[in-house]
Amino acid sequence: MNIRKNDRFPLAIDGALHDGSGVGHKDGVAVFVPGAAVGDLVEVQIVKVEKRFLRGKLLRVIEPSRDRISPDCPAAGRCGGCAFAHLSYAAELRIKEQRVRDCFARLAGLEVPIRPIVPSPLSRRYRNKAQYPVAPGPDGRPIAGFYATRSHRVIPCGDCLLQPARASAAVEAVLEYMERAGVPAYDEQSCTGTVRHIFVREGAVSGQLCVMLVVRQAPIPQPKLLVELLRARLPGLVSVMLNINSRPGNAILGRECVTLWGAPYIEDTLCGLRFRISPLSFYQINHAQCEQLYRKAAEYAALTGGETLCDLYCGIGTIGLTMARDAGRVIGVEVVPEAVEDARRNAAENHIENAEFFCGTAGDLAAELAARGLRPDVCIIDPPRKGCDAGLTETLTRMSPRRIVYVSCDPATLARDAALLAAEGFVPAEVTPFDMFPRSAHVECAMLFTRERPSC
Ligand code: SAH
Repeated sequence: MNIRKNDRFPLAIDGALHDGSGVGHKDGVAVFVPGAAVGDLVEVQIVKVEKRFLRGKLLRVIEPSRDRISPDCPAAGRCGGCAFAHLSYAAELRIKEQRVRDCFARLAGLEVPIRPIVPSPLSRRYRNKAQYPVAPGPDGRPIAGFYATRSHRVIPCGDCLLQPARASAAVEAVLEYMERAGVPAYDEQSCTGTVRHIFVREGAVSGQLCVMLVVRQAPIPQPKLLVELLRARLPGLVSVMLNINSRPGNAILGRECVTLWGAPYIEDTLCGLRFRISPLSFYQINHAQCEQLYRKAAEYAALTGGETLCDLYCGIGTIGLTMARDAGRVIGVEVVPEAVEDARRNAAENHIENAEFFCGTAGDLAAELAARGLRPDVCIIDPPRKGCDAGLTETLTRMSPRRIVYVSCDPATLARDAALLAAEGFVPAEVTPFDMFPRSAHVECAMLFTRERPSC
């Protein structure tokens, strides 16, 4: 290949990567260009020569693709949050659906029907949770926003259109508090300063709002001033919290929370049930799409009333509890103690008496439950991005459910685990991709596996 770094040339974009970058070919070598769309003719500059491909920077669009839109975000091109900001929503959905197909065909070598991707009911303001990194700005005053692509440089984003409408008012109030009380932003390089992140969570139906400052150490000066500023600007505020994270590194939240004002949780309604959500508990971030996802999961579970349902990686119990009235018994497993506590209260407050929740890893607890003779009819598994715990697929074989409903936020690990489950004799029946995170590169899926219990 005689193409070098800094070479510039026109390039026709004929393919797309799952992260939203366009792909063109120069002398038979692929060039990956972030921000380019299939059908674009662009001018690129080579920024890196890799072994089998080139990385290019988009200098100029010569002829735009029909898929290209002009992003309506003032931070577009600087903020690394939206991989698909330059593409129409239809083009984004095509790329995401294709990604799921590629994962199953290429990574898993599995043939399984893949349904059309379900679009998100909202493509703006769909998130109910925002986590803004805070850093010292160029003049030393604190700034908050999102990270630039592949960096930890904070880009102030103003009112990001993916976040809840009140989130930017919360950020402004916190920054004002920091200036007035002289509270410094955390500096990642030196691990000094105080405020690391601003966490905002809103109940999409209830309108309840929690604002939590992630700090390196507590207490903070003038907590009353913070509470006053937030209460004055945020109708619906029910909870002001601190989270203490003194560890260097990328994890946003530490283990300890302190309530400064109000309740240590918000409440929200999902699929007709009321849920309590503590800040350390997971809660699906796209409410309207989550309801569609859970409906599909319920269809796949096909409960008839008497079944034992195991909800692994259950969070605050949402999936199992919304299915509980159609099941004989629900058993939830979750590793975060606060989420398990929420799940138990959520069962009680919704008068659901056939659900129990256990705290531990799905890998260990499912093995223990199987050893104690638990044989659920249906298992839901909804692991984080890294997929199922080691050994879980073998445990599922021992449990021998008739159906497994796998809810996944990463099609690559879903495909890997699907191949393991298929090898254990579960039949991959169907996959439905859901666009849970418009404008970002993430794809959610629900997948059904079936198996008749071996007759003995
Ligand atoms: N089903 C829930 C939560 C899904 S997110 C919902 O739809 O809201 C995945 C959940 O798995 C999180 O709550 C996370 O805390 C939990 N988790 C992560 N690793 C785990 C493990 N090894 N065992 C059990 N739960 C785990």
